[in-house]
This record gives sequence, structure tokens and C-alpha cells, in this order.
Amino acid sequence: MSAIMNRRSLLKSGLMLAGGMPLAAGFLQRLNAMPLNTCHVSGYLSDEQIITGAPLELKARLFANENPFGPSPKAKQAITDAVAQSYQYPFMFARDLMKKIADFEGLPTDNLLMGAGSSSLLMAAAIKFSQRPGSNIVTGDPTYEDLPFKAQLLNTIWKKIPLTAAYTLDLDAMEKAVDGNTSLVYICNPNNPTATVLDTAALRAFISRVSVKVPVFVDEAYIDYLDDPQGTTMIGMLKEGKNIIVARTFSKLYGFAGLRAGYAFAQPDMIKQLALYTEGPNSLSTTTLHAAMASYQDREFMQEALKKTVASKKYLYSVLSAEGYTYIPSSTNFVLFPLKMDSLQFVKEMEKRGVGVRSWKFNNKEWCRISIGRMDEMEAFAAAFKELS
Ligand code: PLP
Repeated sequence: MSAIMNRRSLLKSGLMLAGGMPLAAGFLQRLNAMPLNTCHVSGYLSDEQIITGAPLELKARLFANENPFGPSPKAKQAITDAVAQSYQYPFMFARDLMKKIADFEGLPTDNLLMGAGSSSLLMAAAIKFSQRPGSNIVTGDPTYEDLPFKAQLLNTIWKKIPLTAAYTLDLDAMEKAVDGNTSLVYICNPNNPTATVLDTAALRAFISRVSVKVPVFVDEAYIDYLDDPQGTTMIGMLKEGKNIIVARTFSKLYGFAGLRAGYAFAQPDMIKQLALYTEGPNSLSTTTLHAAMASYQDREFMQEALKKTVASKKYLYSVLSAEGYTYIPSSTNFVLFPLKMDSLQFVKEMEKRGVGVRSWKFNNKEWCRISIGRMDEMEAFAAAFKELS
């Protein structure tokens, strides 16, 4: 409780600092009423709840899209080496990492905000874009729910736009859904939970048209799994002055989900506004910053992890096909496939067999999302799945 209270006080003091403007009383009332820790919201099973509620003795941990092949040996060594320096606050180390990331993208550090995982940046955006009463956020459906869900807790309307028949975000329909009350469009690319990726040219054209009206948030958590992340990222559009926010995380291919590091690029003024609602780079530990510094763009490690992910995914496809199941071809480290039974029941039965997976319901179908793990984990899934399929 006290952590939640502290976070509220911090957020409020951030609001107080926002140019000394008269505080939006309605917004503060909503913030007060908002359970910032969504574990307390009834009927909502957050990733955090599923993960913290899972039995420890799982044979296969395939519910959180983690990378069990990481972190890289260089990151592990950097953590060991940095332990002695952990009595120091992280200011300088954060500055060095930000410089490294910004240089790689060819942008100044003014365009960059870091957080202990990208979730803290999604939260900052949820708060920032929920300040106008009656505003709405446009997203695909299904998509990653964290940002719009939190915005909804602040009374923002969540406009969910169904996916296309190919299970990709329906950009045309999303564009049509934008109206005078839209505060943000959220694009998850590749999309979680469908693992589908948008055509890069189509997304660029969408951003060129839509970002003139409202900011577009592009969540690129899984972009490192694509063949050409640099050719696919929207970060470069910031150089053309576009009003976008692009979020990235070290939690996926870098294998840092437990170390916690993420970042967002946006125009400098937007970065300043988002920074009001998050603790920013100083929320990362000195050890995490050193590990991120050592493994950022470590192509050798990435290639190795990608190779193992592809092998496990190929095996999963063969298991599903052999059992007579279809799946949505995946561009990421997880696969969504339709079930032939109730999805919650399926998750429970799999868990009894030591295998953790996630469930979805959409398009009048029951679905399982399975993360790609080590080969032994995929074999554990296969053994359990054969008993249920
Ligand atoms: N965005 C997407 C699409 C995700 O799937 C996740 C986590 O699963 C996140 C953001 C948050 O990741 P983190 O807070 O670990 O950086």
C-alpha cells in the first residue's frame, strides 16, 4: 500500500511541477481513484499476477515471452564486475548508456527516456494521454493491453479495433476511428499476442497521415526478433519531425526481463512531458545499466539466441501440425494458436502438467499463446499437449 501511496505522491508532485499550471482537479481525482497496481483490479489477470501466481516447479515457463537463452555472457560478466560499484547512484552510468543507444539511432539523448523496463514508460504515456476528460485511445484488438488498460482506469475511453482477417492491426480501420477526442493511437508492432508484423511502408504512411492529428505510440518490444529491425523501426521517423513515441525493451531478445531496462524515443518536448510521470533512468540499477551497456547490440549473442528460438519454434510448429492444429505464423518469440477446448481450462490442465502458457478469447475462438522456450521446455509442452489435444 505504501508503495502505491508513494507513487501517487510522486506522480502528483510531477503534476505540480508541470509549469506551475493550475492542477486539473478532475484528473487528480481520477489518479487518486486509480489502482496503480493493477493486481488489485478484480476480473483482470495481469501478466504480473499470472507470473507471480505460477507454481515454482514448472517444467516449462512459456507464459511471459521471456528469452531463456539470455542474458548474454558479456552481460553476466558486467554484472559481476559492477557489483563493487553498486554503492554508487546510477546517474553517470545511465547517461553513458543513453548516449550509446541514442548514438546508435543517430539521435541526440534529448529524444530518449529510459525506465526500469518499458512498462514504466507505457504507464507514463497512459497518464499523460488521460488528462483531457472524454478522451479516447485507439488500439488494435487483441493487442498488448498494458497502456490502454491503465488509461481506461483513468477514465479514458479505449477504442478497440478488430484485427484484419490475417490477424494484423487494421490500420485503415484504426485511422477511421481517430476523432477529435482521440489523445493517442497505440500500435504494437510486432503485435502481442498475434506475433504478426505490419508492412513497414504501410505503417510509415499511416504515421505520416495520423501523427499530424494525434501522437502515435509504437511499441517495438519484439522488433529484435525480425530479420531487419533497423529497416523496420519507426525511430527514424523522429528525424522527419513526426509526433511519435517508440518504445523498446531489453526484456525480450536481450533476456533482461528480470534485470529491467527499457527506453522510449520521442520528440524532446514529448520526452520532457512523459518524464513527469516516471522516475526515468535513475530507476535502473547500476548493475543493470552495466549489463545493458555490455550487451547492447551484441550481434553475436543475438544471432545465437535467434537461432535457438527459430529451432524451438520450428519444433513447436511440427508438434501443432502433427496434432491437427493450425497456428498464426509468428515473427516473434511466441505463437498464438486456436484451441479446441475452453482456453482457461486448457491453461489449468497444462499447469497441472508443469507447463505455463497463456489463454485468449477473440473472434469467437479460444486461443493459446505459447512463448518460445528452450528445446526441453518445448518437449515438455509437447508431452503435455498430446495428453489434451
Ligand atoms: N510491450 C509489449 C508488447 C510487451 O509484450 C511487454 C511485455 O511482455 C512490454 C511492453 C513490457 O515489457 P518490459 O516492462 O519488461 O520492458
